[in-house]
Formats: sequence, structure tokens, C-alpha cells
Amino acid sequence: MAIHEKSLIDVDRLLTHDNLVIDGVDVSGHWNTMITPRTLTDYDDSFEAKIQKIAGAENVHRCWQCGSCTNSCTMYAQNVNFNPRYWIYATRLGLKEEIIKDKDIIWQCVSCNKCTNICPKDVKPEGVMKALSHWLEEEGHTEETHSTTFDYEFWDQIAKRGRIEDSAVLKNFFAKTGQALAQDWLVEMVKRMMKHLPMTHLIHSALHAVFPPKTKSWGKTGDVLKAYVKEQKEAAHG
Ligand code: SF4
Ligand code: SF4
Repeated sequence: MAIHEKSLIDVDRLLTHDNLVIDGVDVSGHWNTMITPRTLTDYDDSFEAKIQKIAGAENVHRCWQCGSCTNSCTMYAQNVNFNPRYWIYATRLGLKEEIIKDKDIIWQCVSCNKCTNICPKDVKPEGVMKALSHWLEEEGHTEETHSTTFDYEFWDQIAKRGRIEDSAVLKNFFAKTGQALAQDWLVEMVKRMMKHLPMTHLIHSALHAVFPPKTKSWGKTGDVLKAYVKEQKEAAHG
């Protein structure tokens, strides 16, 4: 049987005869490749349930390993080691070490959602990739990405004020990630806004960046939201 994902198998487990003829049929080399069996002992049988508790990965148990996600994946086209199907398989078996081994590429998912659209079982592989990235960050296997820092800033604004102020999100995100506020693209965007938007709008945006407005009577709602998120996080780590 042809093996399409040899890179996932330990080379010691691949057996191939260079010259082999069976019943008059030449099956030399690739055609007679066999994989020796293995016994897995280093699995965590609570891992799948743990990942399912992270938003986006709820349906990971539905996967039937058809491989459509990997075949359609934007990142797989760039790098054959980027393999959502395999990481979902490893998640289901509780093979944490396999996930940790690929910690430097899992986060590269660009959220194009081609996998999600094609998946026949509604697994939402994009959500699983994001959940695995979050798990790797939370367990300290990878550093917090700028994407996560942005998400936290976004969430902080909602929790505190009940609304998002784009200019404040950007200002705080750049400060938290040690980046200059005067990014070239931002300067260009502001120039264009000055050309096309009313001056009052720009003044409001600038003022809101410094003094972000708050939704009226937000206090209690914000507290309920914070308590809910805390509860979900505790459940996910429980
Ligand atoms: S497309 Fe869906 S069912 Fe098929 S391997 Fe990927 S996640 Fe699993
Ligand atoms: S969302 Fe991520 S995993 Fe899915 S196809 Fe796009 S890059 Fe690949």
C-alpha cells in the first residue's frame, strides 16, 4: 500500500524490500513497504475532553479521518508538515507529545477556513487549530502570540466598558507588544481618513482613544461576563 505521510512514521518502523517478486508480480521498493506495529503507552486519555472545552474544538470527536481538511489546507500547500488531520488524530488519541513536537507550526494556521467548509463531519478544524495553539500557550510550550495579546485587549475593553473602541484597542495592543504607534500602514490610513472623513469623526476617534467611552450602566453586566469567562476557564483547566 502506498504510504502518503511517511514523514509521520519513525523510519525504524518502515520495512521495505529493495527486490521482491510475489507470484510473478514485481513489488520491489515502495510497493512492498510495511509498517511494523507499535504499542502506545504515553497517552493522556483526558486530553481530547480538555481540548473540547476550548472554544472552537467542541466537535473534534466527530472526525473520521478523511483527510479533506489537510488536502484543502492553505498552509499544507506551503508546508506538508502542516497537517490538521494528523493533529486532530493525535488529539483524539491523547498524544500530547505529538502536538508539542509541532508547536512551532500549529500556530501558523491563517484561519482561511477552507478546512471548515470542506469537512463532512462539521469538526471545524480551524477551531481545533486555534484551540491547540491556545493550549500550547497556556501550558507554556509557546510564548503568547500577538494574536492572543490582541484578543485579550479586545476582551478587556468589552469587560470594562461594554464596547470596543478601535483606536484604543490599537493603541494598547501596540503598547503591550512593544511596537511603535506610528506604524507606516497606520499613518497612511490616517492620511486617507483625513482626506475622506469629516474632521469631527477624526476628533472623536482621537478623543476616544485617550478617554474610551463606556456603555451606560455596564458595571453589573461586565461583572457577570467576567465571572462567566472565569468559570469557563476554570472548567477548561479542571
Ligand atoms: S475533513 Fe473533517 S472529518 Fe475529515 S479529517 Fe478533517 S476534520 Fe476529520
Ligand atoms: S483554517 Fe488553518 S487549518 Fe484550515 S485550511 Fe486554513 S490554514 Fe489550513
